[in-house]
Amino acid sequence: MTAHAPDVLVVGAGTAGSYAAATAADAGLDVVVVDRKSESEAGHVACGDALKGAGAFPEAIPKSQIEPAFTNSGVDHGRFEIPSEETVLDIPVPGELAVIDRHEFGRRIIAAAEDAGARFHYDTVVHDVRQADDGRVLGVDAVRHGDPATYDAEVTVDAAGALSILQDCADLSETTFDTNVQFSQFCSAYREIVEVPDPVEWDDALVFKPTERAAGYLWYFPRTETTINAGLGFQMTEEPMELVEDLKRDLRTRPEFRGAEVVDKLGAALPTRRPYDSAVAPGFVAAGDAAGHVNPTTGGGIAGAAYAGCYAAEEAVRAVGEGDTSEANLWRYNRRVMEKFGARYAGLDVYNVLSTAVEVDDLMGLLAALPGEKIAEALYGEASFGLALKTRVVLRSLEYWETVLDFYRAKRLSDGLVDHYSRYPGRPEALGGWQAARDDLMDRVYDAVGAEPKY
Ligand SMILES: Cc1cc2nc3c(=O)[nH]c(=O)nc-3n(C[C@H](O)[C@H](O)[C@H](O)COP(=O)(O)OP(=O)(O)OC[C@H]3O[C@@H](n4cnc5c(N)ncnc54)[C@H](O)[C@@H]3O)c2cc1C
Repeated sequence: MTAHAPDVLVVGAGTAGSYAAATAADAGLDVVVVDRKSESEAGHVACGDALKGAGAFPEAIPKSQIEPAFTNSGVDHGRFEIPSEETVLDIPVPGELAVIDRHEFGRRIIAAAEDAGARFHYDTVVHDVRQADDGRVLGVDAVRHGDPATYDAEVTVDAAGALSILQDCADLSETTFDTNVQFSQFCSAYREIVEVPDPVEWDDALVFKPTERAAGYLWYFPRTETTINAGLGFQMTEEPMELVEDLKRDLRTRPEFRGAEVVDKLGAALPTRRPYDSAVAPGFVAAGDAAGHVNPTTGGGIAGAAYAGCYAAEEAVRAVGEGDTSEANLWRYNRRVMEKFGARYAGLDVYNVLSTAVEVDDLMGLLAALPGEKIAEALYGEASFGLALKTRVVLRSLEYWETVLDFYRAKRLSDGLVDHYSRYPGRPEALGGWQAARDDLMDRVYDAVGAEPKY
């Protein structure tokens, strides 16, 4: 048995963990990161490799250190293939967008955290959480290279990814930490890295397509013009898909994948839900997938994990410095997450709920009926529909008026929800009242779109 006692323990050497470790180590704290993976496998994760907002990542790791992993920075639009309508819709995506070599990105952020002074313990599997009699999280029990090891820390950062084992082991019932987490709030996804013999024509686009057999979606993201990240996923409320077979089937229909070679395969679950209402407990903070920090409509979680990792570490550093790592003194972390992206993601979750209640064909038909630029404006900024265009859109989308109506209702409720999240409470004691009002808003969402309650 070996015993370790860093100031800050980070569980998970993924995006959230590496950004947290770099931040805390840079502030001069003793930081250990544990990960069950080997050194060579660390940073290798199932991902679509698309990085939105690549230009505005947290400063904790300089952009120059991650940029060499950006293998395709020429992507500027989404391409929606809608087979039922025999249509392809190109929608511009504003802002910096890159497709990356995800393993290289993972290696680089780990190296940056090491440069800042964090120590990485690989081949270390956490299997229990150490807690004091009053519930305070003290650290974890693990097995390192086959031998038992204990880790005690002032603050433990849970960056162990989706369905984190730490949250299964810890008793957080006396805290505000969000334990309303169920499989149905997750998406199951799988991806392959495929080398094609000839350059694809769409190397400047993220290609999306609904799946043929169940309510899921496929993607084709060009890492380079000949290396494609091909994957698919479905919300776990839906009928399960045979991910490997369904991907194979679609690949076979595409001439550009003739003679292609699969060089890597991975699958995982990702949280397509609202962010945790609270991701703090005494001596404990969760970040990234471990706290639902993923855009629930796109599944994009790299940016959320990076920011949450930094914020978690900044608040941990302050709390350790003040000698008070209580829930109340870590609370500011929750507020910062909600302000940065949490409120927006909670609003977008309304559309995820809506998508479980409307027919995929109706959704696709509606998408095909609308002009791409206007969808982009509606998604990313202020949409200003001229009268002629409005009339055209209304006529073309008449067939799908019920779906349009659902979207209209969802939009209004989503706006109301974002507004409510902007009033996220400043102290733990006020969380209950805020949650009750939020739950009322969610009940209105379920009623309006005819969906089963998600939470
Ligand atoms: C198929 C798929 C496609 C995706 N596509 C995109 C995309 O295109 N763009 C995007 O932005 N996001 C995408 N995401 C989401 C994104 O990958 C995640 O949100 C992001 O990686 C989360 O980072 P994280 O650090 O929170 O968790 P992770 O990267 O999962 O890191 C968790 C770490 O914890 C370690 N760990 C877990 N349990 C233990 C334990 N018991 N003991 C020790 N270590 C442990 C794991 O080994 C791992 O290294 C996708 C996800 C999936 C599954």
